[in-house]
Amino acid sequence: MAEFTMELNDEQKEVRDWLHGFAADVIRPAAAEWDEREETPWPVIQEAAKVGIYSLDFYAQQYFDPTGLGIPMAMEELFWGDAGIALSIVGTGLAAVGVLANGTEEQIGTWIPQMYGDADDVKVAAFCSSEPDAGSDVASMRTRAVYDEAKDEWVLNGTKTWATNGGIANVHVVVAVVDAELGSKGHASFIVPPGTPGLAQGQKFKKHGIRASHTAEVILDNVRVPGSCLLGGKEKLDERLARARERAKAGGERVKNAAMATFEASRPAVGAMAVGTARAAYEVALDYAKTREQFGRPIIDNQGVAFQLADMRTSIDAARLLVWRASWMAINGKPFTAAEGSMSKLFASETAKKVTAQAIQILGGNGYTREYPVERMHRDAAIYTIFEGTSEIQRLVIARTLAGVPIR
Ligand SMILES: Cc1cc2nc3c(=O)[nH]c(=O)nc-3n(C[C@H](O)[C@H](O)[C@H](O)COP(=O)(O)OP(=O)(O)OC[C@H]3O[C@@H](n4cnc5c(N)ncnc54)[C@H](O)[C@@H]3O)c2cc1C
Repeated sequence: MAEFTMELNDEQKEVRDWLHGFAADVIRPAAAEWDEREETPWPVIQEAAKVGIYSLDFYAQQYFDPTGLGIPMAMEELFWGDAGIALSIVGTGLAAVGVLANGTEEQIGTWIPQMYGDADDVKVAAFCSSEPDAGSDVASMRTRAVYDEAKDEWVLNGTKTWATNGGIANVHVVVAVVDAELGSKGHASFIVPPGTPGLAQGQKFKKHGIRASHTAEVILDNVRVPGSCLLGGKEKLDERLARARERAKAGGERVKNAAMATFEASRPAVGAMAVGTARAAYEVALDYAKTREQFGRPIIDNQGVAFQLADMRTSIDAARLLVWRASWMAINGKPFTAAEGSMSKLFASETAKKVTAQAIQILGGNGYTREYPVERMHRDAAIYTIFEGTSEIQRLVIARTLAGVPIR
């Protein structure tokens, strides 16, 4: 087990500086344009693919970093550049992790390369879990997957919503109900290969922020996928369902708590995205406060402004520490006895919303216009308290964990 450290090693510093350079030179200058266009920034993804940032290799290298700091460091730098573009770059990684975590070696080898494509022909992937009536309440999911034994095929029917890259993805990973009696333990994940009939994009959402990231409904109408597209395979699924049924009979508590560890491990990554956006807005505000003069002196000379900056910086550093702690715990298999993953996401996302609002205030009228980036950063920051579990759900998880009450 790696010791917890707050110091990046030389290799990590090198990667961080490289990512920062890409974020500063390629992502940030493109941010306003793609925010206005509200389209996937394919040329920027392609640039990221050319230099090796948009690839499974890069993502896996950071993911398996034993210090746990690889992913949060990478997320912070990319999202410092711009949240919408960065989500377009890392969105595929979220679907790929679903396959890495649950897929067989053959599935990983077959599908992950098709998720990314290559630098000459980049592709993206989508992870589709949320539904119109199953957002926070994942267990009420309705999309069904029924096994057609004669053809060794699964038939998927339902409507997914809010899918990042939904409908434009080469590969979709779809979560569906295979046993409705078991709540979220009766769910399984399926690969929907490129060009499969029956999968269609529904409405594309026009959003408040992260507008360079494509978000859409995905309609599944009698989508037939081969048996080999069930992540992990049928034998493993049957064993898992049998165990879940046994546990459900025995009271259900272990079934419910088992679901938590996965989310606790993935939530700090979203916290790190929020830290990146918050830091970006803070830096703009600090710079502005030092150079903007009113009443014959820089506005930072007013305690009312300087104290805001002090609070912003303090919250950002505290958020990063919570994120790094939770990421270190996740990679080292430490039990989340106080829902530390949820804590990090809750604090970092609330910090991003607050800090970006403070940045607008410090820039005054300029902060309220699209001439300066903090207006966009504030719109972007609002997503962090919503996706990957809302702030209310994080509080619910933390509270229930502390109280020793099962988490639904
Ligand atoms: C831009 C964007 C991208 C997304 N990308 C993806 C994706 O790629 N894949 C995917 O599967 N999903 C994705 N999502 C979905 C996201 O995870 C959900 O929006 C989120 O889980 C909340 O669900 P909901 O929107 O249905 O809100 P609801 O669950 O309807 O919640 C509405 C409000 O009620 C509150 N609430 C609900 N239950 C409780 C409770 N028990 N106690 C207290 N308060 C409660 C919530 O906190 C919230 O404030 C994305 C969403 C957005 C906006």
